[in-house]
Amino acid sequence: MTTYVYDFTQGDKDRADLLGGKGANLAEMTRLGLPVPPGFTITTEACREYLAQGDEPGELRVQVTTALRHLEDKVGRRLGTRRDPLLVSVRSGARFSMPGMMETVLNVGLNDESVQGLAEEASDERFAWDSYRRLIQMFGATVLGIPADVFSSALDDAMTTRGRAAGDGPVADVDLTAQDLRELVATYRGIVRERTGRDFPQDPREQLDLAIRAVFDSWNTDRARLYRRRERIPQDLGTAVNVVTMVFGNLGDTSGTGVAFTRDPATGAPGAYGDYLQNAQGEDVVAGIRNTLSLDDLHRIDPLSHQQLLQAMRRLETHYRDLCDVEFTVERGHLWMLQTRVGKRTPAAAFRIATALVDEQLITEDEALQRVTGEQLASLLFPQFATEPSDDGAASRALTSGMAASPGAAVGTIVLRSEDAVAAAGRGERVILVRRETNPDDLGGMIAAQGILTARGGKTSHAAVVARGMGRTCVVGAEELDVDEDAGTVTVRASGREPTVLHAGDEISIDGSTGEVFLGAVPVVSSPVERYLEEGLDAVSGDGAAVDDETLSLVRSVDRLLRHADERRRLRVKANADVPDDAARARRLGAQGIGLARTEHMFLGERRGLVEQIVLADDVTERDIALDRLLPLQRDDFSGLLDAMDGLPVTIRLLDPPLHEFLPDHTELAVRVAVERSRREGGGPGELSDDELAADEKKLAALERLHEANPMLGVRGVRLGLLVPGLFAMQVRAVVEAAVGLVRDGKDPRPEIMVPLVGSVRELQIVRDEVESVVRGVTELAGVDLTIPVGTMIELPRAALTAHRIATEADFFSFGTNDLTQTTWGFSRDDVERTLFSTYLDNGVLTISPFETIDADGVGRLVRIAVEESRTTKPGLELGVCGEHGGDPESIRFFHDAGLDYVSCSPFRVPVARLEAGRAATTDAPSSSSR
Ligand code: PEP
Ligand code: MG
Repeated sequence: MTTYVYDFTQGDKDRADLLGGKGANLAEMTRLGLPVPPGFTITTEACREYLAQGDEPGELRVQVTTALRHLEDKVGRRLGTRRDPLLVSVRSGARFSMPGMMETVLNVGLNDESVQGLAEEASDERFAWDSYRRLIQMFGATVLGIPADVFSSALDDAMTTRGRAAGDGPVADVDLTAQDLRELVATYRGIVRERTGRDFPQDPREQLDLAIRAVFDSWNTDRARLYRRRERIPQDLGTAVNVVTMVFGNLGDTSGTGVAFTRDPATGAPGAYGDYLQNAQGEDVVAGIRNTLSLDDLHRIDPLSHQQLLQAMRRLETHYRDLCDVEFTVERGHLWMLQTRVGKRTPAAAFRIATALVDEQLITEDEALQRVTGEQLASLLFPQFATEPSDDGAASRALTSGMAASPGAAVGTIVLRSEDAVAAAGRGERVILVRRETNPDDLGGMIAAQGILTARGGKTSHAAVVARGMGRTCVVGAEELDVDEDAGTVTVRASGREPTVLHAGDEISIDGSTGEVFLGAVPVVSSPVERYLEEGLDAVSGDGAAVDDETLSLVRSVDRLLRHADERRRLRVKANADVPDDAARARRLGAQGIGLARTEHMFLGERRGLVEQIVLADDVTERDIALDRLLPLQRDDFSGLLDAMDGLPVTIRLLDPPLHEFLPDHTELAVRVAVERSRREGGGPGELSDDELAADEKKLAALERLHEANPMLGVRGVRLGLLVPGLFAMQVRAVVEAAVGLVRDGKDPRPEIMVPLVGSVRELQIVRDEVESVVRGVTELAGVDLTIPVGTMIELPRAALTAHRIATEADFFSFGTNDLTQTTWGFSRDDVERTLFSTYLDNGVLTISPFETIDADGVGRLVRIAVEESRTTKPGLELGVCGEHGGDPESIRFFHDAGLDYVSCSPFRVPVARLEAGRAATTDAPSSSSR
């Protein structure tokens, strides 16, 4: 028979999967001899079965009966009896904490009879009726589905009536008399009857069974599902249910309830910290119904309970070797521990606490690395909106939200066109570029803007990828926005609210860490951690740096853990960078080279015309002229990059994107030609000269010849290079000439050439021959000795599956996991997040976007096959990754396990990747897989 119910004396903290976090920790505290009210836990397995079958498993009721009888015997009372009744709380508790998401019912077992018994036993009638009204209120909302505000407004009315009787304003809940509460209970019962057509159940066991069922059901509320999606908690875990003997904090002023932390979870500062509320129960503390007292106040009121609490917390911190939070209740001077867990904390606190615990010799440095995450570090790197309300706090208000695509806090006035962003930035204005979605032509505007906000697109949309690459704050997919570029307006259409119309020039603030968008300017504070990373510890800790002790301690903690990660990690960390500034920044942030320099950005703007000419040329001379004009420009591009990374490898990828990105817009050109023709046919004067018309006609014919229905699967990458003679050769020549120039200046350039989108070894072989011949030609002529490795990206399933062959022609591989994900799943990376993913995340096909975290089972399997088989052909082959996944913590762990040599990511993710690579090297925990 399956065991669905565990007494607190049977479990322990390592069984959180089965008992939920709360149940496992209650059991652990019981084992430690701390004062936990007796109780039992119904397992997550029971919940999963209930949710799957729509009914409790038969044995569950029997096991609950047995556990309840044991409990009754232990405490010497019976559930809900007339004399000295046992009352219980029914509390949810899943594997991962989901604060406020699921349900709890207190005082189960009270009815018209047992309320009398409770009053007699406690010698306190008011308390008994207060407990009863709380039960009906919680049970009514949670179990019977009556809106909570129906009860709270009845409570408000009671408080107003009592105040009026005393000739005053409304009183607080504690001022209600026993008689007031008795009447309130009658009102509540009336509400239950009216809303559900039946009386509030008087049978204690029925109350218990219904409450357990309601907690199971609360696993699947919309808000709980949404919370799990955001927190990446699987939807199929289910919750455990804890049935705990009630202890009462609402027995007058010698009782109360509180929450406390063994250290400050906001700053990490040492010393216990907490809130206490006298004469209160359950959620009152967090619900903010009255102002809370501090632990110092508790010391004053009840020194013994205070001392016991501090001792229990010290015991817990020693046992868990981490910050713990607790919920406790004092019942007439007796302390009860109701919950503990390793507490949530802010990113800053996480770093400070981890190093403090090392100093206290409670954990090792390796363990300290496990206590912090790359995401926590990332959030410390960006300017943030001040959490303290500003003097002009009313100057901003929440407008809408989208996906947090690139972190940071940006404030500026709205511009709707990239040209306007560039012009405004030129005048020294701070702007936010607001677009429906961005395209490669928006690059200038994106560079000029403080931040980017789009109405469409997901986390790997153009806006998101480019913004992350530049470290620009970005929010994408804010779907309530309607961007009308022509009218110069942005309309916010939130359901249930009047549309808000904003105009170009209005000031907004966007939070790239949360996706929130505000109207007006929210105050921003800069990041000391970023300053430390860019300028070194002295810049923050040296004389005159003027930072407070707390900030200094944070920066020192980050420095210490990052250095430890660097010592321990096996993966090298490189950056994806295309311009010298980004390369230099990446280097300051610890990058060990450039793993991907995309060259397509170098072909935009004025140079685009030259590329158009190269692609559309119908004779060799015309093409060569354009290539010759591009050569010196490219040489300068590469020279800057190689110089910024002097002495470190720079992997330059030959031109990759689909052809159509460089060509004129087909519709626009077709319309221009058609209009001109009809003008001329109508006998009127044309607007174009004969030469201009002929050129347009020629372009149009070429465009139609090259038109592709699926450009992403068309002529891109190596295919473009093989189709357009001279293009790759020109790029390689520019690289080698740049390197030769730097060598002559006494520098140490280390370029590598990378070929994109290879699917067959033969493609690579052809390009490799060409590359080698250019390298030979240039270096021999210059009399400079240079070795330039040639490698390929692995971004097609066929490349991964034939990696052992491709390896024969490659000096290195770099997994292009963006395209590899796109081609393995057959998902268009530009569209699918917008069109499909919210449904797929809801229905559980995906737990996270595979463009964000590597799909270990599918795409990851291809990576593993390619790693293994390529190294059979060439044992020392250098292997890395340069897709977006290279900066994603969970993916980094996967790449470490898969045996790669390096990850390459956006410059701003470099510290994150260093930390995560260190964490991967100091843990044996396998990476979790997607489904
Ligand atoms: C990739 O496909 O993973 C990659 C890095 O190339 P791009 O994103 O430029 O296609
Ligand atoms: Mg690619």
